Amino acid sequence: MIGAPGRGGRVREANAAAVLDAIRVHGPLSRRAVARHTSLSLPTVSRQIATLTELGLLSESPPVAVKGEVGRPTVPVDLNDDVIAACGVHVGITTTTYGLSTLRGVLLDSVRIATPQGRPEKVLDRISREVETLLAHWPERRIVGVGLASGGQVDAERGLIDHGPLGWRGVPARRIVEEVTGLPVHLDGHVPAMATAELLFGEAAGARSALYFYAREMVGVAVAVGGILHRGPGQAGSIAHLPVGGDVPCGCGRTGCLEVTVAERAVLERAARAGVGHRPGIRGVRQAALAGDAAADRILTERARALGTAVGLLRDVVNPDVVVLGGQAFTDAPEYLAAVYSAYAATTVLPSGDIVTTSSFGPDVQAVAACTGLLRRLYAHPFSLVRAG
Ligand SMILES: [Zn+2]
Repeated sequence: MIGAPGRGGRVREANAAAVLDAIRVHGPLSRRAVARHTSLSLPTVSRQIATLTELGLLSESPPVAVKGEVGRPTVPVDLNDDVIAACGVHVGITTTTYGLSTLRGVLLDSVRIATPQGRPEKVLDRISREVETLLAHWPERRIVGVGLASGGQVDAERGLIDHGPLGWRGVPARRIVEEVTGLPVHLDGHVPAMATAELLFGEAAGARSALYFYAREMVGVAVAVGGILHRGPGQAGSIAHLPVGGDVPCGCGRTGCLEVTVAERAVLERAARAGVGHRPGIRGVRQAALAGDAAADRILTERARALGTAVGLLRDVVNPDVVVLGGQAFTDAPEYLAAVYSAYAATTVLPSGDIVTTSSFGPDVQAVAACTGLLRRLYAHPFSLVRAG
């Protein structure tokens, strides 16, 4: 890591970030077009592009003649997808996912393992060694760091994670993963990281305001305005106990709270009690429903309705331009999306409800989001993570 830059360094880095952003959003672009998008002078843009190209972040595309522009053909510049990669690790309650992505958030590789059990230090040490094995398969890539994402309370500044369901309190996750991998590590909450992935590379790109809604083992939302994610003070917001009706008892003493109604482990418990399934896991419940098991179908329909109701309630509170649904509760059982959407439509009272879309990341959402946690840092402060090599 380079030390903190002086004022001139900060201005140069801010200019570089603006150039990178313009090319990420609109690229490939000519130098002239980058200058238009960033309001920087052409010499400044050319200097930044030279530096970013040397760092492996940008590359020149084949020259094209631009209509209406006389003189030499323009050489457009685009993100260089061939040199640099970001690593990402998502630690979930039952499943841990790690992977590698290009600068555009495209996954090159990803692996899923059962989240190891035991003391958090041991768990993170074990995961970090698995990550090292994956990275060893990509010697030609320059890995700029690791994005580490999880649920619970994530203190990105101090590198600590509190995660109730995992039994983690004040775990120095950044230090542990940095020690094993030797790479800079950036922490982020998993829902903010997923919402960032949608803002940078997904369904919320360019939206004036967006609500991101996540559901698998946990539920969560994030709100972005003008492409900027809202990050509240201290504790992340929670929708775990949003009342969505129904009779599922919750640990908080009430019934019909959202998370306990829709979480995979809760759905599995209900399915087991109803005698559903010869095959294990949430996929087994879905397969039983597809094969005509009425109890399995009822359980999954209930989950879909609870999700749709929650999405409708939150849409009316936030009133965003777009709502993005992500997580396996939506993407692993597409035949139940119709039930999600109809419960949503029956709940929202605002006009023009046709603003809900499902994440294009599908089951890769955790891996893409974890990588994006690091890419966000790279796009904001390119010189803090990448040096000429
Ligand atoms: Zn509750």
